[in-house]
Amino acid sequence: MKYKINTEISLFNTYDVVVCGGGFAGFGAAVMAAKEGAKVLLIERTSGLGGMGFIGGVGNICYKGNVVTNGYPFDTMISLMKKMKAYGPENDYPQIINEKYGTQDNLFDHNMLPIVLQYITNIHKVDLLYHTEVIDIIKCKDKIKYVIIHNASGTQAIKAEVFIDATGNGIVAMHAGCKTLNDDEFYPDMLKSSTLMFLRKVDLNQKQEVLDEAYCDPKIDIPKIQLFYEADDKISYKVHSNISYDTTTGKGLSDLERDMRDKIPAFIRYFQENISDKYKYDYSPQVIGFREGKRILGDQILTSEDIKTHRKFDDAIAYGNFTIDTVYARENIDYYQIPRSSILAKDLVNLFVVGRCLSADRGAMSTARIMATCCLMGSSAGINAALAVKKHKNIRTIKTKDVVDILIKDSLDKDFMREKLSKSTQNTSAK
Ligand SMILES: Cc1cc2nc3c(=O)[nH]c(=O)nc-3n(C[C@H](O)[C@H](O)[C@H](O)COP(=O)(O)OP(=O)(O)OC[C@H]3O[C@@H](n4cnc5c(N)ncnc54)[C@H](O)[C@@H]3O)c2cc1C
Repeated sequence: MKYKINTEISLFNTYDVVVCGGGFAGFGAAVMAAKEGAKVLLIERTSGLGGMGFIGGVGNICYKGNVVTNGYPFDTMISLMKKMKAYGPENDYPQIINEKYGTQDNLFDHNMLPIVLQYITNIHKVDLLYHTEVIDIIKCKDKIKYVIIHNASGTQAIKAEVFIDATGNGIVAMHAGCKTLNDDEFYPDMLKSSTLMFLRKVDLNQKQEVLDEAYCDPKIDIPKIQLFYEADDKISYKVHSNISYDTTTGKGLSDLERDMRDKIPAFIRYFQENISDKYKYDYSPQVIGFREGKRILGDQILTSEDIKTHRKFDDAIAYGNFTIDTVYARENIDYYQIPRSSILAKDLVNLFVVGRCLSADRGAMSTARIMATCCLMGSSAGINAALAVKKHKNIRTIKTKDVVDILIKDSLDKDFMREKLSKSTQNTSAK
């Protein structure tokens, strides 16, 4: 602890596995840990599940080609979203608005996402604690004993055997003293953020007024725009930021949010003047779309070189295939593997770091950060955590083969997953 506490902190409860952060990575982790028999708590600081897919308004699954299988939690989400007519081709979601601005497949209704994800966690009896922020940890040597939370009840502690940091920012790992990865030899600049806005169709031209003309320079520099078709004649309008803020810091994130919100009227006016005057501002999501948070040092750092060379790992527990998507270029790649060693926080015996805070260089994170891949690595961490609790073993001594066997058993397309994780399925010794 880095400060002295002069009040007693009460114990909220004790769990087998505590997952911090309810984005796609945390959702996958919590569902699979509970499905494998662990008593699980999922802590989320906002009001629902889905992370950037909910609070950030991100409404499509990035993937090269059709999404096949990404583990039971993800596959179940897709099938339920389809059932709710909130996903995919059957519901006219993947329409191309304009070839210049976007040709995305796999669109979904991000407003439906937290309802569907919560339904799945309910089925598996995951305890949920919303409106709760993880603010610290207590550890004994190399083992985290408690996370410290803050919510409407004040400050409390929660005990667990295994913790999974899925905060997107490595908050648990940071408080536990883990090293963060800042630099990247090949991609030195941070991933840029984007403002998402939702527009609705109107009959009359209703030009957006601005509060201050200074914010509405007609020459406003808009480096890149993407448009996605939404239901009910709405459009999701994404403008990339051209200023780099350090989104791994509280101040950088706050400054980015403030700057981009100031510019929303100008962005809308730009849209009306350059794209279509038949749309007006509807709303923007709760949080700015920041792509990069803290990456945490693990047993191994997944590198862009590993990804480009399709390196096979003995302990592969997830895969991805999205482009290496940095400020420099979008580089197409084929399926690559993610090793368990890149989601094990170094020097700690009971912490996984999953989702976009995994142990990866910037280039590797730029592809592994997409929602399907985050969910898959979270799912493996959840299985691994539950097996460790069940067998009273350290998370590292659980065989990756045992994790992967369960992942495959529960997947929609078992052969596909077996093939993509092929080397690890032949691994019989503990890594
Ligand atoms: C603008 C933008 C567009 C994108 N477009 C796409 C796309 O089209 N398709 C795609 O697949 N991916 C896309 N992505 C990437 C993707 O949305 C994220 O990288 C992905 O959601 C990361 O998942 P995660 O679970 O690791 O983290 P997050 O989604 O960030 O979830 C982390 C969760 O942890 C919670 N949390 C954080 N700190 C705490 C704390 N201290 N205590 C408790 N809870 C905490 C947060 O509230 C959040 O719910 C986009 C990202 C951005 C920013």
